[in-house]
Amino acid sequence: MENGAAQPVIVAIDGPSGTGKSSTSKAVAAQLGLSYLDTGAQYRAITWWMVTNGIDTDDPSEIAAAAGKPDIVSGTDPANPTITVDGTDVAAPIRTQEVTSKVSAVSAVAEVRARITELQRSIAASAEGGIVVEGRDIGTTVLPDADLKIFLTASPEARAARRSGELKGADVNATREALIKRDAADSSRKTSPLAKADDAVEVDTTALTLAQVIECVVTLVEEKRAAK
Ligand code: C5P
Repeated sequence: MENGAAQPVIVAIDGPSGTGKSSTSKAVAAQLGLSYLDTGAQYRAITWWMVTNGIDTDDPSEIAAAAGKPDIVSGTDPANPTITVDGTDVAAPIRTQEVTSKVSAVSAVAEVRARITELQRSIAASAEGGIVVEGRDIGTTVLPDADLKIFLTASPEARAARRSGELKGADVNATREALIKRDAADSSRKTSPLAKADDAVEVDTTALTLAQVIECVVTLVEEKRAAK
C-alpha cells in the first residue's frame, strides 16, 4: 500500500448453514469499513414472493417463468442490512419455516440463479470501498475473481446447536435433520451448487468461538489488502 489508504477488497465467504457465515461476514465488514451482502436473504426474498403470489414451488417451470418479476433490493450497511421486495420490507417474513423449507427448491432453478447472480455482481461492482459477500457459490460462480475466498465449515452437531439456539429453543434433532436435508439439496443441484472454490481458505469453526472466527478472517483480509 503506497499512500496508507485502505485498498478496496472483495471477500467471498461461502459454506453451509450454521457455520457462522452471517455473523462473521457482518462483523468483518463492520470492522474493516466494507459493505456487506447476504445472498441467502435474496434467495429467501424471491422465495417469499413466489409463496405470497401463489406460485407452485414444486413446479420449476412456474418458478422459472416468474423469476424476473419481483424487484429485490438489498441494503449493504453491515450495521443495518435491509431487504425489500417491490418496496416491502421482508426481513422478518423471509425467516419463516415455510420460506426456509422452500428456498432450496426455488434457488435450484437456473433462471432464478441467473437473475440473482446478476444482481449480486452489480452490487459488488458498485461497492466503492469493497464488500464482504456471503453465500454458497460466491467464490465459485458469482465472484470468481474475489481477492479473498473463505469456506466456513463445522460439524453437523455444532451447526444444528447454533441454529436451534438462533431459533430460540427449537428441537436440536429436528433442526439437524432439516439442515442436512437443505445442505444436501444445495450441494447436489445442477446449477452452481454449494462448493468450496479450489483457491478458498477453509476454516473449520467447530471448536472456535465467533470472536476467534472473526479475528481469523479479519487477519486474512488485512494480509490480502497489504499485499495489493
Ligand atoms: O444463508 P441462508 O441459509 O439464508 O440461505 C438460504 C438458502 O438460499 C440456502 O439454503 C440456498 O438454498 C440458497 N442460497 C443459494 N446460493 C447462495 C446463498 C443462498 O442457493 N449464494
